[in-house]
Amino acid sequence: MNRRPAKFVDAPADRACFAPFDHQPRTRLVFGSNTAERAGELARQIGLKKVLLVTDPGVVAAGHAERVGRSLRAARVKIVLFDKVRENPATGDVAACLGAVRGTGIDGFVALGGGSSLDTAKGCNFLLSNGGRMQDYWGVGKAARAMLPLIAIPTTAGTGSECQSFALIADETTHQKMACGDPKAAARIAILDPLLTLSQPPRVAACTGLDALSHALETAVTKRRNPISQAYSREAFRLCWASLPRVLERPDDLEARAGLLLGAALAGLAIENSMLGATHAAANPLTAHFNMVHGQAIGLMLPHVLRFNGHDPTAAHCYASLDSSNAADLAEELESLLDLAGLPRSLSQCGVEHSSIPVLAREAARQWTASFNPRPVRAADFVRLYEAAWESAK
Ligand SMILES: [Zn+2]
Repeated sequence: MNRRPAKFVDAPADRACFAPFDHQPRTRLVFGSNTAERAGELARQIGLKKVLLVTDPGVVAAGHAERVGRSLRAARVKIVLFDKVRENPATGDVAACLGAVRGTGIDGFVALGGGSSLDTAKGCNFLLSNGGRMQDYWGVGKAARAMLPLIAIPTTAGTGSECQSFALIADETTHQKMACGDPKAAARIAILDPLLTLSQPPRVAACTGLDALSHALETAVTKRRNPISQAYSREAFRLCWASLPRVLERPDDLEARAGLLLGAALAGLAIENSMLGATHAAANPLTAHFNMVHGQAIGLMLPHVLRFNGHDPTAAHCYASLDSSNAADLAEELESLLDLAGLPRSLSQCGVEHSSIPVLAREAARQWTASFNPRPVRAADFVRLYEAAWESAK
């Protein structure tokens, strides 16, 4: 007798299982240890002869820029170097990068580093290829002309920027984070070499890893989720959930590093297909006002957003389909991950003033990503989310 298991009969239907989508893979993914050595060969394959290598001083000190530079030179690809990328790049950082490249006649970009290097390179690409100011590209599809090819080589496992067509650049005067997206801005090739991620300082690995995990969890439930994004979200979650605790406990565990790097990239593909939600909306004002590292702000807010979204039956079903537990259990496990990472659990421990909550909440409600959250989330809801995160006990 073929009886259907009760589990399937009882499961609430998720209409997004058959939601329409339009998915165009834009980035060739090259994954594996030592793939960074192929940078020159891959640059040649797409016809590059002179590139701007965009990176930061830490990545240079770790020897990665030299390694990639050697590979490019061996393939007779000339290099113009910009190694002054800063965290949370702003319009001024993009202008500095553009200043380094004007008149050099480059025909492509190689971005080597964390999300900040990748975003700075993408931002510079917008302005070099299309002119104007960064603000002109805030939104989606504002670049009229073709952009130069970009090879992205992440050295952190987090943002998934290597798989996305968005550059996140802060407006220098307002501190507002602008998501500037265009299919033409996506990397032509992403080189995912887990060996490069071994040099991340533990705190960076923890913050970026939590960010990747949040990307998997947020994309899994947004209003835009569809069969393709869900496939990426599920696999990204599986890889990040299994690998992050291992990376925190044993930083030299190369297999766990590889899992996290791959998970972060797949989560980036999920974002490209289903956007993000209330965690990112709540985190951005914390970075803008208190200069909090993105992944740390994300790690603090995510458990509270999970509990909030868990009241929505469809979102609860989506979370459960990821790891077969409920949103509240998932939130609790995330909080123990924060402890394992040695990160604070409450906003009050991070110098966030309680009196700032109403302003933060107003700004969070206006964030673009809030509009994709499965459960409607208004300023009053963000007040409650920040209150919960402010006093969250360790
Ligand atoms: Zn993020």
